[in-house]
Amino acid sequence: MKYSTLLLLFAVTISQAQTDNRIYDIIQSVSAERLEKDVTMLANFGTRHTLSDTVSNTRGIGAARRWIKKEFDVISKDCNNCLEVFYQKDMVKKDANARIPFDVWVVNVVAIQRGSKYPNRFIIMSGDIDSRVSDPNDYTSDAPGANDNATGMAGAMEAARVLSKYKFENSILYTGLSGEEQGLFGGAGLAAYAKEKGWEIIGVLNNDMIGNIEGVNGVISNRDFRIFSEPVPPTETEQQRNSRRFYGGEVDGISRQLARYVHTTTKTYMPEMNPTLIYRLDRFGRGGHHRPFNDAGFAGIRIMESHENYNQQHQDIRVEDGIAYGDVLEHVNFEYAAKLTAVNAITMAAIAWAPPAPKNVVIGGIVEPSAKLKWDKVEGAIGYKIYWRDTTSPTWNHSRYVGDVSAHTLEGIVIDNYFFGVAAVGKDGHESVVVFPGGIMR
Ligand SMILES: [Zn+2]
Repeated sequence: MKYSTLLLLFAVTISQAQTDNRIYDIIQSVSAERLEKDVTMLANFGTRHTLSDTVSNTRGIGAARRWIKKEFDVISKDCNNCLEVFYQKDMVKKDANARIPFDVWVVNVVAIQRGSKYPNRFIIMSGDIDSRVSDPNDYTSDAPGANDNATGMAGAMEAARVLSKYKFENSILYTGLSGEEQGLFGGAGLAAYAKEKGWEIIGVLNNDMIGNIEGVNGVISNRDFRIFSEPVPPTETEQQRNSRRFYGGEVDGISRQLARYVHTTTKTYMPEMNPTLIYRLDRFGRGGHHRPFNDAGFAGIRIMESHENYNQQHQDIRVEDGIAYGDVLEHVNFEYAAKLTAVNAITMAAIAWAPPAPKNVVIGGIVEPSAKLKWDKVEGAIGYKIYWRDTTSPTWNHSRYVGDVSAHTLEGIVIDNYFFGVAAVGKDGHESVVVFPGGIMR
């Protein structure tokens, strides 16, 4: 082999493993100080309970959402009006459940950074506006909700500040949702709005409690965090469920692929962090605002701290038996909240710079020595990457860049022993979320 050919091969290998320096800049730009300022502001509205006062300009959820909208407007002004900021609201009727004692407007704040090429395709980051104390229907007591969930809300605002300095091909949507503690009403409202508008949602990164580093069990870590995702969508058909028995896919739904994407992006660009994939929709028996998006058939995951302190969630502020209860500011670690905000920001940037995922991915290779994959090419991709992993592995451990083709045979890789997927690769090296095959080739 000639030396020049060797050099060329080397260059090609490098270009396939490239990282994007803009992603490091994004991590650096997330500010713990600004997060502290915003979380403090939110906590100081006294309560942000969904049923609380909406008239006062200093206390209650009305004041909080008006301030959030105003902040998004300020961010937009700073980027030549690059954000479309609006309220999305739905009336929830009395007795919708036991936590809705009277008719109430559930009002979300939405900010859209419109993509240049795919204005109708969205990657979404959500936090929550609302807060609560011990009694879920107590809408007058102080409920600062500093960690739950002023941190997620402030994270979405900070991500908007950072990412609005860049241009993307896909749209990024930042939102503060309401009615979470009363029954996930805000998420349901925005998911329905998205369906009505015909939005294509790549995924929802729901942030709910991203600021606590000391668990109720005493474990302290400012590196660990969790990514919750359901295994398969609740909207799948009976036929899809049946075919899983024979072809696999029990742990390969669209939300799980999104969770793996967050995991990989974090490991690549923030190797000091320890993301844990949790193979379940949410904490045991508990809820979060990604679920209504999952219910509507969209990919959505929950990003949150690893070590929760239950004395500091959903509690009346008090001291009992020497234990201080309440979700107050002093328990929030803003450097950590900045890290998790950065995880969101780099995931959204990578996805929003990536081409669409390959379509109609099918797999074959039954009773053959090699696995075969085929897909439809997508606009904007310079090539495709096949991923595979052991059936017991939580993450995609093997990959091969196969170039700008629409089919590839993995010689010597027996289909029975692995799971497979395909991603599209863009010119800056950013990849789509991996697509698990949806059909069989015989
Ligand atoms: Zn909560």
